[in-house]
Amino acid sequence: MEKQQFKAESKRLLDLMINSIYTHREIFLREIISNASDAIDKLAYTALTDDKVGISRDEFAITITRDKEGRTLTVSDNGIGMTKEEMEENLGTIAKSGSLGFKQAMEKNEDIDIIGQFGVGFYSAFMVASSITVISRKYGQDTAWKWVSDGADGYTIEEAHRDGPGTDVIMTLKADTEEEKYSEYLDEYELRSLIRKYSDYIRYPIKMEVTKSRPVEEPEAAEGEEAEDKAPKYESYTELETLNSMVPIWQRPRKDVTDEEYETFYREKFFDYNKPLRIIHSSAEGAVSFKALLFIPGKAPYDFYTKDYKRGLQLYSSGVMIMENCEDLLPEHFRFVRGVVDSQDLSLNISREMLQHNRQLTIIARNIEKKIKSELKSMLENEREKYEEFYAAFGRQLKYGTVSDYGAHKDSCQDLLLFYSHKQGKLISLKEYVEAMPEGQEKIYYVPGENKDRLAKLPQVETLSGKGYDTLLFTEDVDEFIPQTLMTYMEKSFCNASSEDLGLQTEEEKKAAEEKAEELKGMLTFVKETLGDSVKEVRLSDNLGKAPACMVPDAGMSFEMEKYMKRMNPEFAYPVGRILELNPEHDAVKAMQRLMTEDVLKAKDYAQLLMYQAMLMAELPLDDPYAYTELVCRLMN
Ligand code: ADP
Repeated sequence: MEKQQFKAESKRLLDLMINSIYTHREIFLREIISNASDAIDKLAYTALTDDKVGISRDEFAITITRDKEGRTLTVSDNGIGMTKEEMEENLGTIAKSGSLGFKQAMEKNEDIDIIGQFGVGFYSAFMVASSITVISRKYGQDTAWKWVSDGADGYTIEEAHRDGPGTDVIMTLKADTEEEKYSEYLDEYELRSLIRKYSDYIRYPIKMEVTKSRPVEEPEAAEGEEAEDKAPKYESYTELETLNSMVPIWQRPRKDVTDEEYETFYREKFFDYNKPLRIIHSSAEGAVSFKALLFIPGKAPYDFYTKDYKRGLQLYSSGVMIMENCEDLLPEHFRFVRGVVDSQDLSLNISREMLQHNRQLTIIARNIEKKIKSELKSMLENEREKYEEFYAAFGRQLKYGTVSDYGAHKDSCQDLLLFYSHKQGKLISLKEYVEAMPEGQEKIYYVPGENKDRLAKLPQVETLSGKGYDTLLFTEDVDEFIPQTLMTYMEKSFCNASSEDLGLQTEEEKKAAEEKAEELKGMLTFVKETLGDSVKEVRLSDNLGKAPACMVPDAGMSFEMEKYMKRMNPEFAYPVGRILELNPEHDAVKAMQRLMTEDVLKAKDYAQLLMYQAMLMAELPLDDPYAYTELVCRLMN
């Protein structure tokens, strides 16, 4: 028999397939099953108007047969089948997509929906098969045809026999190699899991002979005989089993699905043994129609804050899984969300790159982002305890989201942030902070540091507290970047109370402070000269409450950030300028001032001591703890 050659473009694609452009060879099965399902769709559609079809809806099925000796895997369907010409056209030419043609022909009718245009689906079988035989009989014809190809060399086609309409795709698997064990595609367990993974929601049953075992009934022990305590015997038998569940949970109306069903689905699908914290089941109609079933996990997976964690949603087109982890559906700041999206509007192609620029996908992604935001917001407003649980797991991600890309995603994140309120003693949102601001308070005050309790004792916090103003205690690395990114929230600017002017002084108070600084200029110069390069500046402050001195960072920076940089990238870390603030009303400061004339050496020791104290309170490490100890001992003598 003469070999026919593939058309040029098909040949090229075939070469690509044989050398595998798919990273996951296993998807060939999904493609072949999806073709079978399409073919059944077509015959089922024909059956609506043609009673000669003679197959009832529940007889349609896809059958998988394995032959271990022959190394063949067969996928059969009782769908529409192909004529000789169609086989040549469809399997010999790639540019022509049968489904597409059919869809156009049936365009008028909404009822039928043919699974996406998998332009190169069939050929993917050559990733695992050295030779493929297709036996097909078109509905309405008596003859069947057999198409055989071993890929590269073209194909043959001859008359054959088949009972009833439909198609068998018989794949002879390639020989196993070191890297690839093709024979695993004959393994019952492997096939079962591939079908669950990729084709679970195909609308027709996918049946396969599976091996089962049952206990063998033993004859009753005869009377007088001791009934021995024997282990029961088992025998194995085979049974045709349906491997797919057919109706995806997200296609069912929300009211028909129980919480338990959602939870089971979530656990099985996403391998989390905790319950999801929130279930979002939504559907959209319009420019693009889709269904989404999303879950907010109750706990962060152990690898969540590492590079190993992969964000993304599972993407389906009419029940066929297209992509296991579609990153483009989920923004980075909501990467904790798990779920499934199904849309029949996606014109899908195997190329990931093409999917990335897909307009429909962009619309779906935007829609999903909005949905997640509004669900979280409603949880924050109405189910506070639950939200805090969520926030404990994923709050940090929202903070990163706020500051990432120079604040490009702040609209999605900023309203969802919580910080610890010194005044209220609990986590509050920025909105709650602003709404609780008393008359006269103009700024959102915060202090960065490692420990809430120590921050609460900062003199500035006490000063603010005295006026009835609240301070947010920022204890996470990323917190401090938030005011810098947001600049304002609800038109209020942020103020780092530990380093910036609190803005509390009236004009008169400011003037008085300036006069005081002028008056004590000699003391300030004395201290600066004594301390040398250890400090950048020495100045007075009237925000220090009971503390004699305080170390504050140079404008725009903070000690926390200095420490953070040192941890993240020591090479680029640089010290933040240290400014020593003195409380002129404090006895210790006054004592030093007195000693400046009576005992200069002692006054110098006092100045040093004040600096050390300020360093300790600011949680800054002492460069020379020995010098500090020596100093204290000298003063004690
Ligand atoms: P696509 O599915 O995107 O059309 P394929 O290469 O997977 O691309 O298949 C090409 C064509 O071959 C299909 O459109 C269909 O007309 C035909 N075909 C493939 N498998 C079957 C089948 N099991 N039954 C009937 N026709 C089939």
